[in-house]
Amino acid sequence: MNALTQALGNADASLMVELESLYKDLHQHPELSMQEVRTAKIVADTMEGLGYEVTRNVGVTGVVCLMKNGSGPTVMLRADMDALPMAENTGLPYASTVTARGADGAEVGVAHACGHDMHVTWMIGAARILAGNRAAWQGTLMIVFQPGEETAEGAAAMVKDWGEGRFPTPDIILGQHVMVGAADTVMYRPGVTLSAGDSLKIRLFGRGSHGSQPQTSIDPVIMAASATLRLQTIVSREIAPSEPAVLTIGSLQAGTKENIIPDDATIKLNVRTFSEDTREYMLKSIRRICCAECDASGAERPPEFTTINRYPLTENDLAATQKVAGAFHLQFGERSLLAAHPASASEDFSIFGRSWGVPYVFWFVGGTDPDVYAKALQEKTVNRIPSNHSPQFAPRIHPTLETGLQAMLAAAGAWLCPGA
Ligand code: ZN
Ligand code: ZN
Repeated sequence: MNALTQALGNADASLMVELESLYKDLHQHPELSMQEVRTAKIVADTMEGLGYEVTRNVGVTGVVCLMKNGSGPTVMLRADMDALPMAENTGLPYASTVTARGADGAEVGVAHACGHDMHVTWMIGAARILAGNRAAWQGTLMIVFQPGEETAEGAAAMVKDWGEGRFPTPDIILGQHVMVGAADTVMYRPGVTLSAGDSLKIRLFGRGSHGSQPQTSIDPVIMAASATLRLQTIVSREIAPSEPAVLTIGSLQAGTKENIIPDDATIKLNVRTFSEDTREYMLKSIRRICCAECDASGAERPPEFTTINRYPLTENDLAATQKVAGAFHLQFGERSLLAAHPASASEDFSIFGRSWGVPYVFWFVGGTDPDVYAKALQEKTVNRIPSNHSPQFAPRIHPTLETGLQAMLAAAGAWLCPGA
């Protein structure tokens, strides 16, 4: 416990009621990446009402909120706001029925299937406790609501828009994510905690022809098929078994009709790695294999590589993680868990810290009913609990809301509370 989590414990019961209704409202009104106009307005208006100095539209829809409260470190707390282009299938009474135009112009369902609505709710709750208990802390608080995490655009857009001297540079950056796990637990890890993610589009060029005249063609379908199989040998044959890595080809497209050999084929793939060396090695190997497959077919043009998105490695600062772990231990005791492995998921959170050379810590809060999770652990069925990005992903509001709020205040207090 620190003075801030104590203040949370003493808060009026109406706080949780109001936060629950905010959560349900955000959940029912999800917005796609870089289009979080309604969410950003709610957030900015609320933060202004709490006495924060609010700057809107930082990196399209991002919101930066400052509160100076005496001398002390500048602590940045970050929450992401965007939802996913998918229909919700949770059956919850407050499920989203929203649809929107996706990147390709087609109508898609929109759902908070990654729990960013919970992140915003936690942050508003933390902001209320901090604003209402200024005697409990000192320093400068910088609360950042970020757009576009799901497309890896948001953090980069905010950093670009940040400008020289527009805002103070923080001493520490803190962030958290809801995931599968008992909703009364937190999980953290020093060092690498989330994988790097790279998505590529690769176009392979052949020469189109009539399906009955293969001798007049250079068939890109063969190149793509052969490359697809051989790309899987990077992880299985080129990377040490002790080094985790993932390569998934999620899209493979060529041609329109059975008797036309098409001009080109397109592969879209996603790579997850846990060290910068492995990342660079894999990206090089992908190029080597695709170029060689095109050569093998006698292609007249080399393949074309386009980056779809890129998430850097999330690598928690060791000393700062130790500080957060100490605060978690005091707050949660044995409900604060040390993760054995980094997670094979990616975030653009670290772009802030990487861009400014500032240490950061990112941790996880369980969102699963603790009884359901304990039973699943016992029956070895944890993998069947709907995870983030599943149409059935649904954090249990209580105690997920309480745990995330306590975690954020415990961690922030490690820097902001004198004597903590
Ligand atoms: Zn996500
Ligand atoms: Zn997420």
